[in-house]
Amino acid sequence: MSKTHLGHTARKRFGQNFLHDDYVIEKIVNAIHPQNGENLLEIGPGLGALTDPVCERVNALTVVELDRDLAKRLRHHPFHADKLTIIEQDALTLDFAAVQQQSRFPEKPLRVFGNLPYNISTPLMFHLFDFSNVIMDMHFMLQKEVVSRLAAGPGNRNYGRLSVMAQYFCAVMPVLEVPPDAFKPPPKVDSAVVRLVPHKQPPVQVDSVTTLERVCAQAFNQRRKTIRNSLKECLDEAELASLGLDPGARAETLSLQNFADIANLVNKKEG
Ligand code: SAM
Repeated sequence: MSKTHLGHTARKRFGQNFLHDDYVIEKIVNAIHPQNGENLLEIGPGLGALTDPVCERVNALTVVELDRDLAKRLRHHPFHADKLTIIEQDALTLDFAAVQQQSRFPEKPLRVFGNLPYNISTPLMFHLFDFSNVIMDMHFMLQKEVVSRLAAGPGNRNYGRLSVMAQYFCAVMPVLEVPPDAFKPPPKVDSAVVRLVPHKQPPVQVDSVTTLERVCAQAFNQRRKTIRNSLKECLDEAELASLGLDPGARAETLSLQNFADIANLVNKKEG
């Protein structure tokens, strides 16, 4: 537990670091640019740092909050209760397609945003990628290092499984860096806001996303190893060479196109 903010004791297990810097809040809301009639969904509204200014601009907002006390506060919101649809649930298990279908604007794709709990941000990203066909865009406050990983290209030390999968599903655009003192309590790490826009057409052709995920996981789990070793369970040296790849290369040097080629060959082999 940490010090109280607006009468609420921040809960570490829910990754609660509440934004209180008006300049940062305004920048984020301007980046989201919420409009009436859009299918807006906030993950982790907390005490309303982003919820309130967004509700000042629109008539309807759905929020997903796991902390029962915070969900209760939102239900009794003094100004915006009638605009809010509150889902008291773990965002990690939320069916975002069902949320879209049951929303006030089922014909509109979701615009998802939030200052995310950092302890679950990477699995939450992977969960959201599965719903990228019902999402128009996402704006998230994350650990700065996670934003670097999302945006990194081959050869960058932050390039990994998250970069490849994020860039397969989305265009990734870092928006703003945020220091710890913009939050109460301040997190131990720097933060950054990122915009993710799901591609209408993936930038590379992939026969099975599950295989792409598996191949990336294998290659980056042993990132110091050559792909000859890390991928030996699925492809041999000759097969890697047939794709124009150097079997002595490391995963961190391979492009999204290279990973797509590997996944498609593995998929073909496994029939
Ligand atoms: N949006 C508020 C702000 O900017 O001040 C709060 C942000 S705080 C970093 C993260 C919020 O996510 C908290 O309200 C926390 O209770 C909520 N949360 C934590 N885990 C969650 C989960 N699995 N699903 C949904 N909300 C969660």
